[in-house]
Amino acid sequence: MPTPIRIFDTTLRDGEQSPGASLNHDEKVQIARHLEAMGVDIIEAGFPITSQGDFEAVKAIGKDLAQSTVCGLARCINADIERAAEALKNAHNPRIHVFCATSNIHLEHKFGKPFEAILEMSVKGVEKAKQYVDDIEFSPEDGSRTGIDELEQITRAAIQAGATTINIPDTVGYSMPAEYGAIFSQLRERIPEIDRDGIILSAHCHNDLGVAVANSLAAVEGGARQVECTINGIGERAGNAALEEIVMALRTRADFYGKYTTAIDASKIYHASRMVSTLTGLAVQRNKAVVGQNAFAHEAGIHQDGMLKNRNTYEIMDPRDIGVPESKLVLGKHSGRHALADRIKELGYAVDDETLERVYHDFKELADKKKDVYDEDIEALLDQGLSDGKEQYELVRFHVTAGTEQTSMAYVMLKTPDGEMKGDTAHGFGPIEAVLAAVQRIAGVDARLEEYASRALTGGTEAMGEANVRISSAGRMARGRGVSTDIIEAVVIAFVTAINRIAAMGPAPETHEGDTAGFASP
Ligand code: MN
Repeated sequence: MPTPIRIFDTTLRDGEQSPGASLNHDEKVQIARHLEAMGVDIIEAGFPITSQGDFEAVKAIGKDLAQSTVCGLARCINADIERAAEALKNAHNPRIHVFCATSNIHLEHKFGKPFEAILEMSVKGVEKAKQYVDDIEFSPEDGSRTGIDELEQITRAAIQAGATTINIPDTVGYSMPAEYGAIFSQLRERIPEIDRDGIILSAHCHNDLGVAVANSLAAVEGGARQVECTINGIGERAGNAALEEIVMALRTRADFYGKYTTAIDASKIYHASRMVSTLTGLAVQRNKAVVGQNAFAHEAGIHQDGMLKNRNTYEIMDPRDIGVPESKLVLGKHSGRHALADRIKELGYAVDDETLERVYHDFKELADKKKDVYDEDIEALLDQGLSDGKEQYELVRFHVTAGTEQTSMAYVMLKTPDGEMKGDTAHGFGPIEAVLAAVQRIAGVDARLEEYASRALTGGTEAMGEANVRISSAGRMARGRGVSTDIIEAVVIAFVTAINRIAAMGPAPETHEGDTAGFASP
């Protein structure tokens, strides 16, 4: 009998803490649904005390998903645990994940408390969480830099208090595989209850030194039965261990790892990767293992010759195994609502009728301008469709002048949330600055453009241009993506989308009492 390795996905919690990633509510729900369809065992949907958005996401996803366990993160503080419990109140399969820093460096600089006090705080946290749900995970934050004696002590105490999963995070990505794997075998040796009572040990690794996946696999060999990871390896700093790499390593090297298995349907990996990169705006590096654009390309002549003779010569995985489509499916202006809905579903999205209607409307407009509509185009339309709410600004028309010996002037007209048409004119050093200034005047928002990038989305002379912007306004950050056959129009759409997102966030986030350490997490 193979040993099951539980896949705990934290794309929506640790991944969403990636600098630059921010997902709105609908986007989080889309990703969670796809993760469940993939067979992810546990989905960490947020850190409810940190924001209303995280609270709502944990609440909605917990209620929506009937298969996967849905987890909310909390510090060992009553207010955190109560907030997580409240968010999970109607969840089908709830888990509360409590954590407390245990390494010397954290104790000295973060808490100024001795280990005994941390131990007591952790036990109280687990006991408190246990009053609300049965499934409790405990993490000694910075566990890999905590002494093994302390780890043993706190693991025992957390188990006695009711924790059923003990996660040993390599919070700062410092550990090396042999070292990290040994923590797990040592804990199992020192605490026989782990194996006897079916307590799950879990790995949580960061990629600061590029060994997050190697560490996770070493942990599995040491006895970890849960691995925490994210799609595309997104996460704080250098990111978390990548789900697709762990799953495909265990699968491709079944000859070596034979006795371990995951419940993941690998054929949904490709779409998961595309979805997360589309919705977070975090591009996947071309040479990224498993899901990068070059991962399956064999362009060097010598390889191609070998490939023709036998695929296995240079390719250890079959692209079809992770769901890379064999040929490009193209839609056009004669494609109906039904064909579009089918394509959206194949891309891994589960949208409601209202969103489908919005996307279909945009699709028709696009298909009029552009003969062939590719998956990339549909993903971009979905991204726009999911960020559109009601009551928001919408681009009606614009006009802009640009040239070598003049400042640019732009006229923009937007439909306001009240349905009113409002136009304004502004100047700028270039066409982009001018249109953005005009949009800001109409919306009455003072925003700063933090990042801007544009590129051709699909090939050919009728190519779609894509613009990505990141703006900040009064301490809030938002991303926007726009797609059009006109690149300046794409920029305006991206900017209006970002402004709408800022408006949807409501007032700037507040900080909580006693929150001197900020919202650090395992
Ligand atoms: Mn982490």
